[in-house]
Amino acid sequence: MIASFIEKPADLPLPPIPDTTVNLYRPKNPFPAKVLRKHRITESASPNHCWHVVLSLEGSKMVGKYRIGQSVGVVPEGRFNDAEFNYVHTALTDKIRLYSIASACWGDDWKGETISLCVKREITEDQSTGELVLGAASNFICDARPGDEMLITGPVGKSFLLPDDPLNYNYVFAATGTGIAPYLGMIIELFNQGFEREVWLVFGVPYSTDIMYDGEFRYFANRHPNFHYVTAISREQYNPRGGKMYVQDRLEEHQNALIPLLEKQDTLFYMCGLKGMEYGIYPWLYRIGSNLVNLPDGMTVEDIQQLPRDASEWTKIERSRDRRRFFKETY
Ligand SMILES: Cc1cc2nc3c(=O)[nH]c(=O)nc-3n(C[C@H](O)[C@H](O)[C@H](O)COP(=O)(O)OP(=O)(O)OC[C@H]3O[C@@H](n4cnc5c(N)ncnc54)[C@H](O)[C@@H]3O)c2cc1C
Repeated sequence: MIASFIEKPADLPLPPIPDTTVNLYRPKNPFPAKVLRKHRITESASPNHCWHVVLSLEGSKMVGKYRIGQSVGVVPEGRFNDAEFNYVHTALTDKIRLYSIASACWGDDWKGETISLCVKREITEDQSTGELVLGAASNFICDARPGDEMLITGPVGKSFLLPDDPLNYNYVFAATGTGIAPYLGMIIELFNQGFEREVWLVFGVPYSTDIMYDGEFRYFANRHPNFHYVTAISREQYNPRGGKMYVQDRLEEHQNALIPLLEKQDTLFYMCGLKGMEYGIYPWLYRIGSNLVNLPDGMTVEDIQQLPRDASEWTKIERSRDRRRFFKETY
């Protein structure tokens, strides 16, 4: 069953998209948001434990004020300076971790009184001792139970938003892992406003058990032929060269449709997710001669195809993108 948060019930009015506001709550005055509900969004067989967590903003200045593409900070109270988490910080600001907002600006109740996060538990081993180390904030959020309170700050961010006149653009959204979070809210906002132009979502995950919000995206794709939903499953699928299937390989596969679309000045490109996805996507954009990227001084398209991940030139490449049409949030 598809939840009512993705398509507005007919009897409710559609509230306006708010202006951009930042830092209504700062680390010195965080808001205690109550956990309303949560559910696991990667399958139980997946080695990646990701949760969709819905928080109440009731009584806060953030009601109806956040925009999709922004993030909120979470203070993982009690998880720091704790031997179990093996991660000692001193300043409160160091303790805050950012999480992309996954809900449309109207929240789940179409009044903006809730906010949702999409969080992956960070779990590693300490290289020197072999001990299990749990990421402080991600496990704090995923462990939270309905009724618990969580201190949040924000909203933050002005650079990964949809434009103020979102229906006048085409979009190509590229995501890896929890980088899918903002696109859920973006797709909900676009189609609930009557979006009629083209939107592509290319979503990369390691295993098919990791595809988050698949039901929600399929729901929109089945109803809107202008929504092209494509997944790249790197450890189960292969690209035509026999390598792992990454987001850039799917972009290449669909480039007959994407090249003319991306050439248009009213097409916007968004990239969100794991640090490292840019090393595959930038070379593809240069290969197709996209006007979203410019060649940094002294570099050729061939140089960029062979650039190692640790090369300092990536900073120049990053700066050479068309920032009015190419938005990036990787972490
Ligand atoms: C703008 C932005 C948006 C983001 N959005 C999202 C989102 O939507 N969803 C999401 O899940 N994340 C998101 N993140 C990432 C998030 O902010 C956190 O960085 C992430 O959840 C890890 O935080 P943590 O507190 O759980 O881990 P930390 O405690 O900060 O630890 C980080 C990593 O180090 C490991 N570690 C810690 N101590 C040790 C040790 N002694 N030895 C070895 N390893 C150790 C941990 O296991 C973990 O893997 C976003 C980041 C940014 C900047």
